[in-house]
Amino acid sequence: MAARTIPVDSFDLVIFGGTGDLARRKILPGLCRRCLAGQMPEGARIIGAARSEMDDDAYRKMIAEAIEEFDPKVSKDTACMDRFMCSLHYVEIDATGDGGWPDLKELLRKDVIRAFYFSVGPSLFDDLAERLHKHGITQPDDRVVVEKPFGRDLASARELNQDLAKHFDESQIYRIDHYLGKETVQNLMAVRFGNVLFEPLWNSHYVDHIQITVAETVGVGGRGGYYDKSGAMRDMVQNHLMQLLCLIAMEPPNNFDADAVRDEKLKVIRALRPVDYHHLVRGQYEADEDGPSYREDVENPRSHTESFIALRTHIDNWRWAGVPFYMRTGKRLKGRTSTIDVVFKDLGHSIFPGDESRHRNILSIRLQPNEGIDLQVTIKEPGPGGMRLIDVPLDMTFADAVDAEEVDLPDAYERLIMDVIRGNQTLFMRGDEVEAAWAWTDPIIEGWQARGDVPKLYEPGSTGPEDSQMLMHRDGRRWRDIKV
Ligand code: NAP
Repeated sequence: MAARTIPVDSFDLVIFGGTGDLARRKILPGLCRRCLAGQMPEGARIIGAARSEMDDDAYRKMIAEAIEEFDPKVSKDTACMDRFMCSLHYVEIDATGDGGWPDLKELLRKDVIRAFYFSVGPSLFDDLAERLHKHGITQPDDRVVVEKPFGRDLASARELNQDLAKHFDESQIYRIDHYLGKETVQNLMAVRFGNVLFEPLWNSHYVDHIQITVAETVGVGGRGGYYDKSGAMRDMVQNHLMQLLCLIAMEPPNNFDADAVRDEKLKVIRALRPVDYHHLVRGQYEADEDGPSYREDVENPRSHTESFIALRTHIDNWRWAGVPFYMRTGKRLKGRTSTIDVVFKDLGHSIFPGDESRHRNILSIRLQPNEGIDLQVTIKEPGPGGMRLIDVPLDMTFADAVDAEEVDLPDAYERLIMDVIRGNQTLFMRGDEVEAAWAWTDPIIEGWQARGDVPKLYEPGSTGPEDSQMLMHRDGRRWRDIKV
């Protein structure tokens, strides 16, 4: 099956922070892959902007090296690399000063799609928006892309929204949550709303509970300084896990338009029940032979920031009345996975004599690794011995179902950037969504701060603190295993 390429119009994409880690590791290699896939239209240009002194040639060299490091495969296609390099330009700009802006204005074309990617810290968003406006650069249909973190609480997120709103309409703003660009996240919507099979069962009559797990084996690494001010709740739950929860729980939108989808997601966030401390576990990883402890990693011996969090919440609406949603995420756990498990209720009555085990259908949606879906079903154990029942997974790994070699799956950043160019906001967070997510998150954080809560220590390579198991056991449930 050949990859379907949707043509996009020519564009000028300005990447503020074009020399930074994100630009070099994700954005530019991603765009180069789209170039290889034939999705970069003739004349498309990418303009890196940052303070470092550099000309176009030096920038091209820097980016060629970055692509070689972060995507050696694509860097071997010399024709593609040559073409991609020709599309690159560089402008020296300090977001907080006025130099360089006239050069950018002169370079930009007026009659193509134009997007400004703010791949810099949020403290510069206001400066960038202000100067783009002040120097007469922006046009009404320009797009602006902003990176996470979008605030660290409701007040700061509101301020960022207000700063952007001074110069851009909401329809121009693309707030990135790269989780939404993942193939399987979109498949989540395809599975739910493209099949007749699941939707009738997708409610409190049939679903016992839902688990969302995002586990990492790595620690905070070089991000310690940033992470220690943030923690798992702000860094992962408020955005990525919340977005997954929305997609799994939202009502069917009446169409796939950006606002139809985002309206439904917003309703989910607004219906989220506050989390009380009985249903919340925070943790910090200890040291082991493979690495230092969390506190050593962040160089803060008294840190109370969590590298692990598990919680239970509810969505207070008709569809989900009484159905708990469990979420957990952490670093240095036993495996790397992002999985959503929809655990269906027990069979009310078994007709098979001697069968006393609890057979449950579980629909597991794997975002990574091995993107795919498996459905746990109960079958007869093959062989003699009567009707002995076992649970087996019906596994559909997407790479097996379609020829992954030929279907060139774009990674999250590639997809999202191309959506910006196409003007499709469906996979981006709207301002009110982000604020609603913080409005739910803030009291949880304030609660543990007021209580002086200290995170529980957990062994690296485990599933997190013992209390996280208790969170489930108290409800007569258990976490699904994190596969190694
Ligand atoms: P970084 O490596 O520190 O890069 C920052 C970039 O901003 C550099 O290009 C820097 O270049 C430029 N810059 C800094 N101050 C500037 C100013 N006053 N005017 C113009 N340019 C300026 O940061 P990053 O990792 O790329 O992250 C960028 C943003 O994305 C951050 O908000 C981060 O939280 C977010 N993010 C990053 C990742 C990731 O994987 N790295 C993932 C998700 C979100 P000069 O020093 O040359 O000016």
